[in-house]
Parts: sequence; C-alpha cells; structure tokens
Amino acid sequence: MKSQLKERIDNLLDSAKLKRTGPRRTILEILLAGNRPQTADEIVSAMGNTRPNKVTVYRTLENMVVSGLVHKAFVGERSQYYELADKCTEHQCHPHFVCTGCGRTSCMHDVSVSMATSAPAGFVIQRQQVRLEGLCPECA
Ligand SMILES: [Zn+2]
Ligand SMILES: [Zn+2]
Ligand SMILES: [Zn+2]
Repeated sequence: MKSQLKERIDNLLDSAKLKRTGPRRTILEILLAGNRPQTADEIVSAMGNTRPNKVTVYRTLENMVVSGLVHKAFVGERSQYYELADKCTEHQCHPHFVCTGCGRTSCMHDVSVSMATSAPAGFVIQRQQVRLEGLCPECA
C-alpha cells in the first residue's frame, strides 16, 4: 500500500475513533479504489488471497457503518451496497445515478439536491438519499 494512501486510511480510522486493524484498512482501500458503491461480495473478491472470511468482512463493514465512516448507499435486489461516507453530509448522501439498462451505478459527487423540508405527520427525517434513474452512454 502506498504511504500516502495508508496515511489517508489511517486518518479516516482515527477520525471515526476506530482501531487500525488489517481488515478495516483493506476494506477502506477497496472502497477508495472502487469509487462507487460495492457489495460485500465484491469487496470480498477484491481482497484476493489476503481475504479474511466473509463473516469478518460483513462484521467489519457493519461496524464502520455504525461509526459513520461507511454508508449503505442503497439496497439492491439481493444485496446492500457500501461506500465511503466522506462525500456525504450529516443529513444527506451524495446522489447516485443508476442505469436501468445495465444496472451500473455512478456516484454524483458534484450534484447537490435540496433537502426535503417536511415528512409525513409523525415521521422524522434522518437522512436523505437521492437516486436518479436513466441510461448510461453505453445503453442510451
Ligand atoms: Zn452517504
Ligand atoms: Zn447502462
Ligand atoms: Zn456514491
């Protein structure tokens, strides 16, 4: 791992008050490199030979979700998609564009959507996630 990347990852763990463990570092490295939401299965296969067992990966991901370092970007048909929360604000995640043709998902880091100001009676808004659907250049 390059030292600059290692430093960034360690800073992320420190700011979330999480111990710098091997599996956490590896998962963050994969999330940073992917630059898009990934399923736990994708993360496990990206680990190659160094992979810990799947349960450890799931547990580590959930642990980073609880600490706010990682967000569940959205829930797909069969699996949850995880990504680094560094491009999100406290109440709003950056929007995502999903291609209805091939399912490819792109992060829209530079687009901000105004926050909903009201919720159904008795409901409390905690987080806003916006998903746009359409066609990617290959499917259009
Ligand atoms: Zn988010
Ligand atoms: Zn497509
Ligand atoms: Zn994203």
